[in-house]
Amino acid sequence: MKSGLFPLPQVRFPASVDSIGQHIALGYEIWASCETMGCNHTVRLNLVFMAKYLGARHGARPQDLKPYFYCPNCREAGRDDRRIGFTHYACTAPHSLVEFACSDQQLAKAG
Ligand SMILES: [Zn+2]
Repeated sequence: MKSGLFPLPQVRFPASVDSIGQHIALGYEIWASCETMGCNHTVRLNLVFMAKYLGARHGARPQDLKPYFYCPNCREAGRDDRRIGFTHYACTAPHSLVEFACSDQQLAKAG
């Protein structure tokens, strides 16, 4: 089968999850939050879109992502709009539940 949007990088163990593509491959999420007092504007990053735009091998550490983000609420209010923090989340329920994987395998055998 031909690849889809872009090739995902290989993930070796012990895992060092540094790139956008590795985050996608492992089901990780990144959320960006404005750190200005009283703002707390927060968004979930669309990693597939970012990989398409920046490349799957682009870094996903805060220093790699910061140049691309600003807070629109703070910009509109005339405050410092570049105080952005990033939170990385590992793949968790319901995506990582084993019972879903089992039921998917059973469906594949049946169908
Ligand atoms: Zn803000």
